[in-house]
Amino acid sequence: MTADRKVLIIGSGPAGLTAALYAARANLSPLLVEGLEAGGQLTLTSLVENYPGFREGIQGPDLMEEMRLQAAHFGTTIVSGNVTRADLSKRPFRIDLADGQSITTQTLIIATGASARWLEIGSDRQLAGRGVSTCATCDGYFFRNKPIAVIGGGDSAMEEAIYLARLASKVTVVHRRDSLRASKIMQDKALNNPKIEFIWDSEIAEVKDVSQGAVTGLIVRNVKTGHLSEVPLDGLFIAIGHTPNTSLFRGQLELDEHGYILTHNGTHTSVPGVFAAGDVQDHTYRQAVTAAGSGCMAALDAERFLDGIPEEVIAEIA
Ligand code: NAP
Repeated sequence: MTADRKVLIIGSGPAGLTAALYAARANLSPLLVEGLEAGGQLTLTSLVENYPGFREGIQGPDLMEEMRLQAAHFGTTIVSGNVTRADLSKRPFRIDLADGQSITTQTLIIATGASARWLEIGSDRQLAGRGVSTCATCDGYFFRNKPIAVIGGGDSAMEEAIYLARLASKVTVVHRRDSLRASKIMQDKALNNPKIEFIWDSEIAEVKDVSQGAVTGLIVRNVKTGHLSEVPLDGLFIAIGHTPNTSLFRGQLELDEHGYILTHNGTHTSVPGVFAAGDVQDHTYRQAVTAAGSGCMAALDAERFLDGIPEEVIAEIA
């Protein structure tokens, strides 16, 4: 059976679009399927100041639009669609879209990302990018010398609190229990930091103030007593974990215990011809620039795979 495509990419964040750019410029005429969250997590942020090449920074949605136009300019076909099924059991691989369309491909690059978990109390989402963030390295700089809060008790929350304590005037960690899930070393660092305070056994009832379109404080509920209190501050960082978007590939690709795709020799997955790039295979760095870098790697790996270069050789020349 002849495949419809040489390279098919799922995902339209920095990883997917960079993979598309490289595959297009290698004359592989890639097809990129952008899902419901087109553009990925950067479309949820405001100013991005840590993507190289933009001295004054660039708005997250604008950066993604530029990447999209650049990938299209070099010959990427971009289709909107929700992938409902992926069959990686034989080549060519096949993906099915919600509109009934099926596409076959010789290589597949998975760049479906990971979604930050939100509190789902309404006001947190409504103030996203207006004082509520899920990425300290992206947005911490905007809160220099201002009081902020971090939600969560895991390693991510402690890491973000420690990072933000260097910038903010004060960091209040709000955690729903009276003990942390984070590793001992991260706990010690956070607990001993004079700029970090903890509010235990508490959850966020409301982020204020949606009517002003900016964060002015939190209404915190003690889960043991039900007591409500208001904490005035300027920013809120939600660090309650990420969910990798890998449900389509469960049982078909090797995943780690948190559901992230395992890669080796660059971006190779456990199925030859299937590559993974960006946050779907990286819970350590999670930056736009690292995602873009791994998208480039995935396109080069796919190109070499199509050229019939064995994986061991690819690993050596990479
Ligand atoms: P995590 O370990 O799953 O921790 C999530 C934290 O958020 C937990 O404390 C949890 O509370 C809390 N939480 C979850 N849902 C909540 C909700 N709806 N409302 C309020 N709080 C909520 O996630 P993570 O910290 O992102 O870490 C993920 C993995 O990456 C872990 O294996 C971690 O060790 C690793 N990691 C390592 C490092 C490092 O070593 N430097 C840095 C980052 C991440 P409970 O504790 O009550 O469940």
